[in-house]
Amino acid sequence: MMTGAQYLASLQDGRTVFLDGARVHDVTTDAGLGQSARIVARGYDALHRPGPDARNPVFTIPRTAEELRARCELLTKHDVTLSLSAVAMALLTSSTELTHADPAAGERIQHWFDDCATRDVRFAELITDAKGDRMLAPSQQDDPDLYVRVVDRDSTGVVIRGAKFHTTAGPIVHELVVLPTKRMKPGEEQYAIACAVPADTPGVIQITSSHHARHGHPRDKPISAKLAIPDSMVVFDDVHVPYERVFLDGDVARSAVIAHSLGLWERLSGVAHMAHLGDQLAGMAQLVAEANGTAGISHIKDKIADIVIYATMTHACLEAALANSEVGADGMLLPSELYTNAGKLHAANHYAVMVRHLHDIAGGTIATAPSFADLANPETGAFVEKYLRGAKGVSADERLALFHAIRNMTADEWGGREAVSWLQSGGGLFAQRTVTRNHYDMAHAKATARALMEPIDD
Ligand SMILES: Cc1cc2nc3c(=O)[nH]c(=O)nc-3n(C[C@H](O)[C@H](O)[C@H](O)COP(=O)(O)OP(=O)(O)OC[C@H]3O[C@@H](n4cnc5c(N)ncnc54)[C@H](O)[C@@H]3O)c2cc1C
Repeated sequence: MMTGAQYLASLQDGRTVFLDGARVHDVTTDAGLGQSARIVARGYDALHRPGPDARNPVFTIPRTAEELRARCELLTKHDVTLSLSAVAMALLTSSTELTHADPAAGERIQHWFDDCATRDVRFAELITDAKGDRMLAPSQQDDPDLYVRVVDRDSTGVVIRGAKFHTTAGPIVHELVVLPTKRMKPGEEQYAIACAVPADTPGVIQITSSHHARHGHPRDKPISAKLAIPDSMVVFDDVHVPYERVFLDGDVARSAVIAHSLGLWERLSGVAHMAHLGDQLAGMAQLVAEANGTAGISHIKDKIADIVIYATMTHACLEAALANSEVGADGMLLPSELYTNAGKLHAANHYAVMVRHLHDIAGGTIATAPSFADLANPETGAFVEKYLRGAKGVSADERLALFHAIRNMTADEWGGREAVSWLQSGGGLFAQRTVTRNHYDMAHAKATARALMEPIDD
C-alpha cells in the first residue's frame, strides 16, 4: 500500500492540468490543488499497512451484509476519492454481462482491478459527456465529438476523442475510467466505449476547478479544508488506449450496463454520505440554536425535528438497502436497487429544504460574520468579541466557529458546489426516480388496491 508521501510523489508524473487559466506543473504544490492532494495523502497514511500483502479495504469485494456495511462506513470516514472506487465496483458488477459479447472482457476487468489494488491507486468516474444539444443523439450532434468516441484504432488499441465533464478528483487520481453516459443505438458503435486511462497519458488535458480558499484565516473554512476535492473537464485529444484497458468497444446493446451499475454503487455511497450529512446538519442546527439562545422556541424546535427526521429516514433507507441486498452473478453482494435509489432521491430532494431550515435557525450572520482574522486583529478584536456573543456563556469565538462552519458547509463557494453535487451526482434526480419506479413492486401495489375494491363476503 502507498503512504501519503508515495501518493504525492505518484502525482508528479507530468500530467496536463490547467487551473484558472494557467498550466499547473505540479498538482501537489499548487495552492488550490495541493490542499486537495494533501487531504487524500492523509487518507493514504490513515489506511496504510506495511507489507506486500496489505491491501486497501476499499478493494474488498463485499460478500456479506457486514462487509457491505463496512464499505459504507469506510467511505463516510474518508475523502471522496475512496467513494469513487464505485466505478471499479461497477466494472466488476458488469463484467459477467460484458463477457457475453466479448469473452475476454471479464478477464481484462479482473486483471485491471487486481493491478489497481496492487498499486493502491485512486479512480475518477468519467461518465458525463459534453452532450451539446440534449435533445439530439450522439450521432445527430453537429460536432461528432460531443460524446466521447473512438476515432481510430490499430492492432494495439483504440484512439478516443471527446470530453467528459464534472470529473470529481480528476487531477489528483491515477485512473480515469471512461464509460458511455447512456445506452447507445445501432449506428452509434463508436460511442460505445469504456476504458481506463492513466491520468498522465499524452493527449489527456484536464481543465479543472479548485474549491479551496487560497487566502484568509484557516478557521474561516474548516470544512472545505478537510473535504474539498477539485472537479475537472477532461479532454481526450486523440488519446491512445491499449486494448488491455478497453472494457467495452462498440457493443451498443450493452453500452448502458456499466452506467446502470455505477448508478447503484454511486448512489449507495451517496445515501451513506447523506445520512451522515443529515446528522451533521441536525447537530449544527441544535448547536447554533443553543448558541443563539433560541433552542427552546417552538418553531425552531420544529425545524430541528424536520432535520432529525430527514437524517433518520436517510439512515433508514441505507439500512433497508443493506438488509435487502442481493447476491450478484459472481457472489458480490449488491445493495437493493429500490431502497438505494429511493434513499438517494429522498436525501437529494429534501437537502435544500434542510439547508433552508438551518439558515432560518442560524440567522443572517452565516452570510456576514467577520473573519477570525478580525477577531485576532487588536484594532477590531474587542468589538467582535463584545458584539458577536450569543446566549449567556457563549463566546464570540464559539459563535464565529459555528457561523463559518455553516457558511462553508452550505452558503459559500464550497457549500454551493456541495448543494449542486448532492442534487446532480449519481446521475441526477430523474435517473433516481426512474430506477426507483422500475424496481418498485407495482403488481403487488395494484393487487392491494384491487383488494380494497372487493366486496365483503357475507
Ligand atoms: C459537483 C458535481 C460533481 C460531479 N461529479 C461527477 C463525476 O465525478 N463524474 C461524472 O461523470 N459526472 C459527475 N457529475 C455529473 C452529474 O452526474 C451530472 O451533473 C448530471 O448527470 C446531470 O448532467 P449535466 O450536468 O450534464 O446536466 P444536463 O444533462 O444538462 O441536465 C440538466 C437537466 O436537464 C434534464 N435533461 C437533460 N437532457 C434531457 C433529456 N434528453 N430528456 C429529459 N431531461 C433531460 C436533466 O434531467 C436535468 O434535470 C457531477 C456533477 C456535479 C454537479
